[in-house]
Amino acid sequence: MPKIKKILVANRGEISLRIMRTAKEMGIKTVAVYSEADRLSPHVKFADEAVCLGPPPSNQSYLLGEKIIEVCKELNVDAIHPGYGFLSENTDFARKVKDAGLIFIGPSPESIEVMGSKLAAKQAVSAYDIPLVPGTEEAISDISEAKKVAAEIGYPILIKASAGGGGKGMRIVENEAEFEEQMDRAISEAVSAFGDGAVFIEKYITSPRHIEIQVLGDQFGNTVYLFERECSVQRRHQKVIEEAPSAVVTPEMRKAMGEAAVGVAKACNYYGAGTVEFIVDDSLNFYFLEMNTRLQVEHPVTEMITGKDLVREQIWVAEGKKLSYNQEDLTINGHAVEVRVYAEDPCNNFLPDIGTLETYKRPQGPGIRVDDGFEEGMKIPIYYDPMIAKLITHSENRTAAIEKMIRAIEDYKITGIQTTLGFCKFTLEHEAFTSGNFDTKFVERYFKPEVLDPVFSVEEKELLSALAVEFFAASKGKANKKDETVDAPKVSAWRKRLDH
Ligand code: ADP
Ligand code: ADP
Ligand code: MG
Repeated sequence: MPKIKKILVANRGEISLRIMRTAKEMGIKTVAVYSEADRLSPHVKFADEAVCLGPPPSNQSYLLGEKIIEVCKELNVDAIHPGYGFLSENTDFARKVKDAGLIFIGPSPESIEVMGSKLAAKQAVSAYDIPLVPGTEEAISDISEAKKVAAEIGYPILIKASAGGGGKGMRIVENEAEFEEQMDRAISEAVSAFGDGAVFIEKYITSPRHIEIQVLGDQFGNTVYLFERECSVQRRHQKVIEEAPSAVVTPEMRKAMGEAAVGVAKACNYYGAGTVEFIVDDSLNFYFLEMNTRLQVEHPVTEMITGKDLVREQIWVAEGKKLSYNQEDLTINGHAVEVRVYAEDPCNNFLPDIGTLETYKRPQGPGIRVDDGFEEGMKIPIYYDPMIAKLITHSENRTAAIEKMIRAIEDYKITGIQTTLGFCKFTLEHEAFTSGNFDTKFVERYFKPEVLDPVFSVEEKELLSALAVEFFAASKGKANKKDETVDAPKVSAWRKRLDH
């Protein structure tokens, strides 16, 4: 059995750090790679060795697979962990890693290939008893044929890129009149974003929940599921808040979904950690969406409720160890919630915000975990995903985990850049969320920029109290004059003053 002694993490930011922390605990040496934009990043400082790959754009740095393999050879690295995004689901890279005699900490190139294509994935699982969203099984090649299928399924339908990911490459078609135009757009988007124009039709489930199952398999055919994650709070088809377990999944449903997920994993001879995503309709029927053949952004909520370190498990499986437990040994302990802290402005359509982390203070306390890759004073580079951090809380039940999260959000101090923290607090306090009665339409249905309480920094609070004193003195003066009402200054006006 190969014992891994040195791992190169082919990624950046929070996930790179998170992986290296576990490696260090296991006595494994770490190598970081970085682009010129990330020279001062914590992941670079944390590693035993670090190598600059090139200029900031990903295609000149983090996506340079061959260069990364060269670095491994020079530094005597024996395994590569790809994290998520970048090269993590790239079959060609996984193959080259293997051919170079290195261990790829992930599944086989064959599993990545099958599941990397949503169409191939559906075909692969069709031999198993796994419910699929109604739709076409092959790429659309004939428009009139496709229209017929769409009419049979019933509008609205979704046109999806087979190679899609990250919430991109999907178009909703409300009726037949829009079909051709939306299909042309979907194809051209798919070609430009994924280099593959294959698109297919899926029934558009109007108000679904997104619930996924974490699976873990070894190289001897043993596969377990580590329960579900509810990821229905999304913007742009991308998750912002996740939790485990889900508020609506019963033990029977958990078992059925878990077994279906294990079936999906078996359909592609999967080993390592992976995620099987399902869409759940309002009658709690679940349908297979896709499988992500990597560590998922939201994996910490599963770690909190199962007590398993998924990166450690990945490394053990990659070394050829057998799983040391079976399904019956796994239990759910308490409840965990994760919010993704993105450098985005929720009041401006969640568009990425640029700037410097002028204040950056993490919340603390029992049951609070922050996975991040930045320090105070750092700029958020524009070249990559705008996620600053993941904030995770764990407690004995859902209510307590949510309460802890609200407190943690209030104690998280970030200035200099807009973030999704205020939006997340709004969501966690919303009746639809606390009752568990929500779906992927949460943002559309309930969120308006006006609902956000401004979250103030210490300096802002000091200035606000000074303004309040000023206002109080002024209002006393005015109160002596008759027929004059006193308007409280609007917070937005105060903010303006603070910003200039
Ligand atoms: P998760 O399901 O792990 O939460 P996300 O959809 O949020 O995944 O994506 C995780 C990361 O991977 C993001 O940085 C996203 O942009 C990237 N990503 C996922 N799939 C693809 C893809 N097919 N092409 C490019 N980037 C992708
Ligand atoms: P990606 O590879 O981009 O992650 P997914 O197939 O996992 O693509 O879908 C991402 C999100 O898009 C889902 O979580 C869900 O919110 C929405 N979605 C996908 N398929 C459907 C569908 N058939 N009906 C309704 N919503 C869908
Ligand atoms: Mg997905």
